[in-house]
Amino acid sequence: MKMKILLSLLTAISISFVIKAQDHRHVVTNPTKPTVTEYWDPEVRVVTPGVIPSDAIILFDGKNLDNWESIKDGGPAQWKVEDGKMTVVRGAGHISTKQKFTNYQLHIEWQSPIEPETLKSQGKGNSGIFMQGMYEVQVLNSYQNRTYRNGQAGSIYKQTAPLVNATSPMGEWNVYDIIYTAPVFTVNGGIETPAYITVIHNGVVVQNHTKIQGTTEYIGQPKNPVHGPGPISLQDHGNAVSFRNIWLREM
Ligand code: MG
Repeated sequence: MKMKILLSLLTAISISFVIKAQDHRHVVTNPTKPTVTEYWDPEVRVVTPGVIPSDAIILFDGKNLDNWESIKDGGPAQWKVEDGKMTVVRGAGHISTKQKFTNYQLHIEWQSPIEPETLKSQGKGNSGIFMQGMYEVQVLNSYQNRTYRNGQAGSIYKQTAPLVNATSPMGEWNVYDIIYTAPVFTVNGGIETPAYITVIHNGVVVQNHTKIQGTTEYIGQPKNPVHGPGPISLQDHGNAVSFRNIWLREM
């Protein structure tokens, strides 16, 4: 019996040694064989690529808003769904995904409505996509429509201007592919690592691993409240902006 216990103890120790040894293979100095720096396990997970990758969570497929809720009251999202797109209904308020996320790759397409020339600057095709419900990537009709540079389409609102303006003409679709890494907080409520974001707008990099300074406030400086996973939220800024083909891959 004692022998049995001793044996299982030894097995456990050797297993943990193997795991440890695998974890630390990269510190081997002056390797003499190519295999020393080849890591085989665990095998890399297979994702079938395509218009929508096989491991994507589909947040909006053009049919309904079942995955979304109103921020106002937590009830059903009251935006209009028609012709495969969802459109802001002025006054219905922001909407959020019911599901919450941390780190992800997000694909989302948006369209500025046809609006009169009298609408300008922030008044034209304004909406927004909020990472974890609090960090806004601006959506705006920035095609031949000047506004403050850190408030145009592709900006991290009131923080970082996009590298270039890649906005499609009014009425045409825009595509954002966003890679987002959530902030990590210390136990004391400080920031261990800030949030970072990369935004590709119509195939053009407009934010390149940009540090998010905190919440994207309309007035005042960014704030850094401690938080966990959060939703993707879409802004009702009073303009009838439309969205379609929204999917996300958790990382
Ligand atoms: Mg906005």
